Amino acid sequence: MSKAVVSTLYDSDVFRMACRQFDQAADAINLAEDIRDRTKYPRRCLAVSLPIKRDNGGVTVFEGYRVQHNLSTGPSKGGLRFHEGVTLGEVAALAMWMSWKCSLVGLPYGGAKGGVIVNPRELSQSELEHLSRRYMQEMIGFVGPQIDIMAPDVGTNEQIMAWMMDTYSNHAGHISPAVVTGKPISLGGSEGRREATGAGVAYLVRKYLEDMKLAVDKSTVAIQGFGNVGSEAALALSSMGARIIAVSDYTGGIYNPAGIDVKKALNYVRYSRVLKDFDGGEPIGNAQLLELECTVLVPAALERVITQDNAPRLRCRLLAEAANGPTTNEADRLIEGRGDIELIPDVLCNSGGVIVSYFEWLQNLQSFYWGRDEVLAKLYAILDKAKDSVEYQKRKLKFSRRLAALTLGIARVAEAKQKRGLFP
Ligand code: NAD
Repeated sequence: MSKAVVSTLYDSDVFRMACRQFDQAADAINLAEDIRDRTKYPRRCLAVSLPIKRDNGGVTVFEGYRVQHNLSTGPSKGGLRFHEGVTLGEVAALAMWMSWKCSLVGLPYGGAKGGVIVNPRELSQSELEHLSRRYMQEMIGFVGPQIDIMAPDVGTNEQIMAWMMDTYSNHAGHISPAVVTGKPISLGGSEGRREATGAGVAYLVRKYLEDMKLAVDKSTVAIQGFGNVGSEAALALSSMGARIIAVSDYTGGIYNPAGIDVKKALNYVRYSRVLKDFDGGEPIGNAQLLELECTVLVPAALERVITQDNAPRLRCRLLAEAANGPTTNEADRLIEGRGDIELIPDVLCNSGGVIVSYFEWLQNLQSFYWGRDEVLAKLYAILDKAKDSVEYQKRKLKFSRRLAALTLGIARVAEAKQKRGLFP
């Protein structure tokens, strides 16, 4: 069998990490050789230059990407990241994980992801609007409600989704809300979307704690990242009675063993934009936070923060991967070897976001809107089903939970490709 001839286009630590996960899963289920490379590698990508007029009269050119990993099972779906550390390889890895995630939870989507190399905090509101609109302008033809649907990720939010929807709609000549999800409710956003990822994380944490015979209201939680996902997970877990003992953002963290007042921390961040100097606890570093003794550790920021260096020093009982790709392959092996930490893998743990994005897309296509309770009930039903299928696969094949989740997601994509056949 000939192997794929693959360029170094995506080569990076994080893309290699996603590829190693794929190879391990493909080996574990003896995936046929002739379908492996087709399933593994991204279908296509677009790299764009984004010239933006600055408030001072100058022009800056930013670089952006969109990677569509799989379009065999539906339009592709995935967030857009604005961050100075974005690379094409990172976007490709994130797109790959989106494919397995959508497949695992049974959504009719392939995976995609986008990114722009920019620190959005260094742009004014009008510069951010120019950048968002220019990105969407460059993507017209490559995205659309039946082609590829964007959503918020690190550094992007509802307002950015609104500008992108408006730009696309102006081009289409009519309002086209289904081209992006995570929009404001007034523009066709879904009830429950803003909190969906964090609420889904909290829901699964409670379920897994129950399986471990631990009560959520007697648990302590440390959360790295206090943006959309981290703060919503903190709110949901504290409303279940858990004690949030540490939270952090890119400026560092706050530690309070007696419990942080999450609403107060959120109000502080809304006003001052960062957690730094919040007086609800002692300052703590991001690296220290990961090693705190706690019941639940929730990485909710960036990839590859749990490594072979700190994995032996983790002191949690449950590791809930709210971020995508927070655990390196080496750390994964070490954690599994330790046997004292349960892990909810990212493709399951943070899938609440894309599930409610799917609901938003459906509501947009039908122009028929659901209430918050209905959205959340449907979300939890899908999460329950996905969790059950992962646990069944884990028991049946004696896999780690990550391997169980990845093999389910990958096998379904591979099967769809096999059934469609190869064109021409
Ligand atoms: P966000 O931009 O709203 O928040 C990111 C948070 O991480 C911020 O608090 C930021 O300060 C912090 N952060 C950034 N760099 C950091 C660093 N080096 N150390 C510590 N903290 C740092 O982004 P988000 O939407 O909450 O996404 C967080 C993670 O969740 C990402 O991995 C994303 O891919 C994943 N995710 C997001 C969604 C969603 O619906 N937004 C869905 C699924 C997965």
